[in-house]
Amino acid sequence: MPDPQTHVIVGGGLAGAKAAEGLRNEGFDGRIVLIAEEGEAPYERPPLSKDYLRGESPREKARVHPDGFYADHDIDLRTGTAVTSIDPAGAQLRLAGGEQVRYDRLLLATGARPRRLAVPGADLDGVLTLRDLADADALRARLASTARLVVVGAGWIGAEVAASARQMGCEVTIVERAEVPLQHVLGREIGELYAEIHRDHGVELLSGAGPKAFVGEARVERVELHDGRAIDCDLVVVGIGVTPRTELAEAAGIAVDNGILVDEHLQTSVPGVFAAGDVANVSHPFYGSRLRVEHWASALHQPEVAAPSMLDKPAVWDRLPYFFSDQYDVGMEYAGLASGEDEVLVRGDRDARELIAFWLRDDRVVAGMNVNVWDVSEDIEGLIRAGLPVDRARLADPAVPLADLLPPPNPA
Ligand SMILES: Cc1cc2nc3c(=O)[nH]c(=O)nc-3n(C[C@H](O)[C@H](O)[C@H](O)COP(=O)(O)OP(=O)(O)OC[C@H]3O[C@@H](n4cnc5c(N)ncnc54)[C@H](O)[C@@H]3O)c2cc1C
Repeated sequence: MPDPQTHVIVGGGLAGAKAAEGLRNEGFDGRIVLIAEEGEAPYERPPLSKDYLRGESPREKARVHPDGFYADHDIDLRTGTAVTSIDPAGAQLRLAGGEQVRYDRLLLATGARPRRLAVPGADLDGVLTLRDLADADALRARLASTARLVVVGAGWIGAEVAASARQMGCEVTIVERAEVPLQHVLGREIGELYAEIHRDHGVELLSGAGPKAFVGEARVERVELHDGRAIDCDLVVVGIGVTPRTELAEAAGIAVDNGILVDEHLQTSVPGVFAAGDVANVSHPFYGSRLRVEHWASALHQPEVAAPSMLDKPAVWDRLPYFFSDQYDVGMEYAGLASGEDEVLVRGDRDARELIAFWLRDDRVVAGMNVNVWDVSEDIEGLIRAGLPVDRARLADPAVPLADLLPPPNPA
């Protein structure tokens, strides 16, 4: 007899799709309903600012699963369907057309949406954001006829769009409030590395600057900055961060604070309701505090905890934050969690852009970023987890294998 229960997942992004797969992998043979507002089978977003945006990879390559996966695994994938409300007391939710769906367990994987700038002209034609495939299609089409692009915000999305647009032949100006790109994550010193990379590729970087208004007749023609400067352009991409999509949870009385609050099993304040991915603000056992990580790896791996948790099996989320970025010929991975206050130590060749940057606090590694150096993430995570004082000279010396800096494994 198959399990008579119905487990419902709201959100057909990476987290939602992997959770549906995870429930089947865990042996759940009841009903799975995966409800996705977008009219697309689940896909991954990283290509949208990289190869897909540049027209170098097909749409299908971004799909989380191959065609037929959902039917083959008896997953009721409902695309183009929005959930409008949740009734936790009655264990049911309502869809946009009015249909009610009952659930035994519910996973909220509603992701995030781009923040908008509240300045005059923000709604002008040609002022775009990038989150989904439709945005990427629209941006790619526009870039083909764009001479000058202004990117507002040098976070990851802004920096990657700037790089792709340069590779597509556009003139690009980045307007960034901080001194250097990515400063809030990487700090001043390593952010400067990214400033150099973009300048070397011909990007004009206006730092310490913010838009006061977007100006144009039928479409954007100029960005006016607070400091009086103005940049002529024919397209603007605003990449100033995202806001977690918590409105459904909030209206249902589920605890929310910078995301949906979940414990280390990814359960929300309401028993039987779970959250994962960009929207989840997780109580993290390693840090002893809450973390909401808006990156691909969390959306990929949190379902490995959410799915068993939904089936009352023991599982705990304690992976360290991890993300990656590709800009021009510079690839990087970052693991851990540093702040602007932490000391930076560089191992490798900064000028050749082959290096590992470590962030140290009280002589201990709290984060590491490898740039065009590969297969070191595991060792970097080992150093962070070990939490032991490090020998700076050996850490900075590429001739010393990182594995040699790790404590010996505990005898079994
Ligand atoms: C352009 C771009 C490039 C990126 N590149 C990188 C990268 O290089 N490296 C990296 O680590 N991370 C990257 N990221 C971040 C990464 O893609 C996200 O962390 C990841 O997509 C989060 O997945 P998710 O499933 O939690 O949320 P999402 O991908 O946002 O999916 C949530 C889905 O839920 C749907 N939904 C929301 N509300 C409802 C509702 N009420 N009813 C039905 N459906 C609903 C939404 O429509 C959406 O499709 C990138 C993101 C973007 C946008």
